[in-house]
Amino acid sequence: SVPVLTIDGPSGSGKGTISRMVAEKLGWRLLDSGALYRAVGYAAGMEGLDLSDVDAMTRCAQTTKIRFQAATDGNDTHVLVNGHDATDELRTETAGAAASAIASIPSVRQALVDMQLAFRKAPGLVADGRDMGTVIFPDAPFKVFLTASAAERAKRRYKQLKEKGLSVTLATLQHEIEARDARDASRTVAPLKPAADAVFIDTTGMGIGDVVAKVLAVVQS
Ligand code: C5P
Repeated sequence: SVPVLTIDGPSGSGKGTISRMVAEKLGWRLLDSGALYRAVGYAAGMEGLDLSDVDAMTRCAQTTKIRFQAATDGNDTHVLVNGHDATDELRTETAGAAASAIASIPSVRQALVDMQLAFRKAPGLVADGRDMGTVIFPDAPFKVFLTASAAERAKRRYKQLKEKGLSVTLATLQHEIEARDARDASRTVAPLKPAADAVFIDTTGMGIGDVVAKVLAVVQS
């Protein structure tokens, strides 16, 4: 079957950047599963729906059209939500918090399973998320769990958002990220945790190049 490398971990662990770089090196596809939850939360907001309304959120997850469009200019992949380019809106911590809120609804997660499985195509897939190795691709031959200290994760996200021109304060961001991670780890459905067979990498103080090399070694060993 088509090989999958799952990269799970909390926000700011470097998953996004590392997954993109490793997929590029391997020539494999990339699944940014967090973007799916962000997109559904965003679509719900656009429709003025209540994020705690389970039926409405389930319907929203089932019907929202999400498309990834590779950028032609060497920039980030664009995300189209019901035909609207929502790339910038999806990056905000507001979108992250909305994603986390709806991600705790089992039927919302269920509605997104087939879409995620469909990314598994030759020659391989790098799957970035919270439950890639535990729930969506439990049979993946390669699994990594990335983490870093809470302070370092907040700093990385802060730098990223700043670079994109978003105004945030480090203290607020660290507080928001900690709240989101606590919710993701404590929910009953697909809680954030390393798969039993995942290689655990603490990236605190590590450079991007070293993390990429460590992750590639998991695939190439
Ligand atoms: O990775 P990202 O920060 O984009 O994810 C946003 C939120 O979506 C996470 O905080 C988490 O609640 C949810 N998520 C999830 N399962 C995934 C990916 C993301 O529950 N596989």
